[in-house]
Amino acid sequence: MGPSYRCHDGVEIPIRVTREEGIICETLDVGGPPRLCFTDMAKAIYYRTEVTERTLFSRGFSKEYQYVEPDGYNREVDTTFIDEITERFHAPWPSFTKALFVNSYTGLYDVTLDWHPVGGRIDQVSGLIMCAGFSGHGFKIAPSIGEPMAEEVVDGTAHSIDIERFNLRRFERGGFSRRPTVPNGHK
Ligand SMILES: Cc1cc2nc3c(=O)[nH]c(=O)nc-3n(C[C@H](O)[C@H](O)[C@H](O)COP(=O)(O)OP(=O)(O)OC[C@H]3O[C@@H](n4cnc5c(N)ncnc54)[C@H](O)[C@@H]3O)c2cc1C
Repeated sequence: MGPSYRCHDGVEIPIRVTREEGIICETLDVGGPPRLCFTDMAKAIYYRTEVTERTLFSRGFSKEYQYVEPDGYNREVDTTFIDEITERFHAPWPSFTKALFVNSYTGLYDVTLDWHPVGGRIDQVSGLIMCAGFSGHGFKIAPSIGEPMAEEVVDGTAHSIDIERFNLRRFERGGFSRRPTVPNGHK
């Protein structure tokens, strides 16, 4: 497992980094690309259109995570990954066995202990506002978290939604709560 990162003044930020892999195939002539982003939970795979004629494939949940050092990780996709991922895709998409493999890539997830981002002020460091640790799903939630974070910076406090549940101090309580905040005494 990789280390937890620290920001200055010794505040520990429980974000680790995982290595992710993906491949891209030319699928226009073999029945694809699919029109939708698709996650197959049973096979733990996802795929989506990459430009207009290609399909991007990768592993979804659940899988074994590779915790790595971001400054020195292996940027080459493993051939075992390519073999495994293509096998998983060929069952639902048999015509894709003829798809031309055109590219592969690796990337990094910044993963917190509960797989939700840290957003808000860091108690121990005056003036420090953090927005990181999106744990592999920061693209889709960027607009909704970006707005209250901008309010926190510009207006001094987020007012469009309550961002308390994203604060770093939640880890002292054990992590992110999925339940909505309710007044004291209510269940
Ligand atoms: C393979 C892969 C697949 C993904 N798939 C999805 C998906 O399907 N859906 C989804 O919602 N999310 C997905 N994500 C996650 C999403 O891309 C990230 O959560 C999101 O990009 C995080 O945004 P960010 O602004 O926190 O960080 P980043 O997008 O990493 O932005 C940080 C920026 O800061 C810059 N920077 C770094 N250091 C410095 C410095 N010292 N000075 C100035 N600039 C600096 C960097 O160059 C970068 O531009 C995926 C990520 C990966 C790796």
